[in-house]
Amino acid sequence: MSVIKIHDREFVKSIANDEICAEIKRVAESINRDYKGKRPILLGVLNGCFMFASELMRNLDIECEISFVKLSSYQGTETTGEVRQLLGLTESIEGRDIIVIEDIVDTGLTMQKMLETLAKSNPSSVEIASLFVKPARLQVPVDVKYAAFTIPDRFIVGFGLDYDGLGRNLPDIYDVVE
Ligand code: 5GP
Repeated sequence: MSVIKIHDREFVKSIANDEICAEIKRVAESINRDYKGKRPILLGVLNGCFMFASELMRNLDIECEISFVKLSSYQGTETTGEVRQLLGLTESIEGRDIIVIEDIVDTGLTMQKMLETLAKSNPSSVEIASLFVKPARLQVPVDVKYAAFTIPDRFIVGFGLDYDGLGRNLPDIYDVVE
């Protein structure tokens, strides 16, 4: 069993890189089928999405573009929880097919906010591709059309996901040891 330490916590390897890449390939094949003849914009949500976005895009054989956005860490007072603003969306998405690329959908609040913001720019369609979804944690209904893995409620790192800034470079996924 492969155990590593990041900051103060121990993590154990749970999903190997070849398994991650195989699932991403499966997601890419669905997107290739669904978007044949279209030209979607992949919209990656930084920072966590970068490895997933890269691996996904190299498996797409349709015409596609990519752009990245970031969510500000500003915390507001709305009852839905943390209110974060979308930074970096400079091109027009009006009339375009958008595929939002996320590392993980947890409570779904971030994605809900993101979808509300994108809708104001009148895209033709918006779907979500997420490397991980934790269905047990969802607080709002978010329809993740392209999910590589559904996982239980556990904290994971690796393949772009961090624990307090570290661990993004790990090629495999690790679960926190409780
Ligand atoms: P949500 O708004 O869906 O609760 O938050 C999603 C964000 O929380 C993700 O983009 C990610 O940054 C963070 N997050 C949620 N669960 C995990 C996890 O298990 N590991 C890591 N590293 N980040 C997580």
